[in-house]
Amino acid sequence: MNIHEYQGKEILRRFGVATPRGFPCFSADDAVRAAQDLGGKVWVVKAQIHAGGRGKGGGVKVAKSIAEVREYASKILGMNLVTHQTGPEGRLVRRLLIEEGADIRKELYVGMVVDRGTQRVALMASSEGGMDIEEVASHTPEKIHKIFIDPVTGLKDGEADGIARKIGIPEASIPQARAFMQSLYKAFDECDASLAEINPLILTGDERVIALDAKFNFDSNALFRRPEIVALRDPDEEDPAEIEASKFDLTYISLDGNIGCLVNGAGLAMATMDAIKLYGGSPANFLDVGGGATTEKVTEAFKIMLKNPGLKAILVNIFGGIMKCDVIAAGVVEAARQVDLKVPLVVRMKGTNEELGKKILAESGLPIIAAKNMAEAAEKAVKAARGE
Ligand code: ADP
Ligand code: MG
Repeated sequence: MNIHEYQGKEILRRFGVATPRGFPCFSADDAVRAAQDLGGKVWVVKAQIHAGGRGKGGGVKVAKSIAEVREYASKILGMNLVTHQTGPEGRLVRRLLIEEGADIRKELYVGMVVDRGTQRVALMASSEGGMDIEEVASHTPEKIHKIFIDPVTGLKDGEADGIARKIGIPEASIPQARAFMQSLYKAFDECDASLAEINPLILTGDERVIALDAKFNFDSNALFRRPEIVALRDPDEEDPAEIEASKFDLTYISLDGNIGCLVNGAGLAMATMDAIKLYGGSPANFLDVGGGATTEKVTEAFKIMLKNPGLKAILVNIFGGIMKCDVIAAGVVEAARQVDLKVPLVVRMKGTNEELGKKILAESGLPIIAAKNMAEAAEKAVKAARGE
């Protein structure tokens, strides 16, 4: 799960990480009021979307007067912001962060991510922070320093100081940088984050260390114990199909192909997508209805898939174990009736109550394309999606 920059900064402040003062805003009037409350002479108007690269896309503007705050806020709110992370379709800006302008001496980078290989949190830092960090990572990877944090001890003083020196923090600011990184790790750990990225982390003219940007991802498997994080969810930034699916406890991920997949079991779902690719097609989604799906759940899964206007065919691939084929078949028939199914439906079923399931499908009168095995199912679905 992702959150906005301003929410990330609220978390950072709670853990004692220094950030500029700022307020989230939903209108140009709000933005002007926020700037007046903040005081000072320079403000930054920042688009809040769940994607980075906003600066380069025109979503971050420095205002030198209240009139400019109003001008930029009006321009950015409601704009379709295109960045290298949004894809060409861009993202509608509905929220802003108005914050005080910082006196930047140097832009640095600090990131933390769960590293599966070492089973630790990796801390990465670089002296070359700012809007070109991707370039630094690909052309001069030696400028990115990395350590793996021991979960028992946390980030040790010596480790933090070592990294701070490597990224060019001056001696007088080392204790601040140490506290910064240790607090960031504490926030990461205690909020069950999977990624935290401060880019840029800045050194100010008066040698303070401040987080100028904040990006967090959270482990969705831990959200059950983090209601305060779940409360930060912004449905406008999430895929409506995925939100709908989560209400019915379906594991659903939207993809950009045109063959809807309804499968039980994550492994079988992956294999089904591979098979579709192998035959030259492209899946519209990943969908695992789980082991204990009911007719109602299968119906909802169908409805969600069919909301995709680009859908050209559906492939149902079920291995009946705990999940019985007749339950899936009943769900398929019910859903097809409720949603007035117009795309070809290929079904492959094996396992518990297979015969009963096939009977239900055959007697339904629906134009179902039956397949004996997975390869045949994938091939038929790809052909059906092409209208062959
Ligand atoms: P993104 O990573 O999406 O481009 P950032 O929050 O990193 O957005 O902002 C982009 C750039 O804008 C920063 O690298 C920094 O140079 C500048 N900037 C952002 N916030 C401020 C601020 N409060 N004061 C001064 N400059 C800022
Ligand atoms: Mg940034």
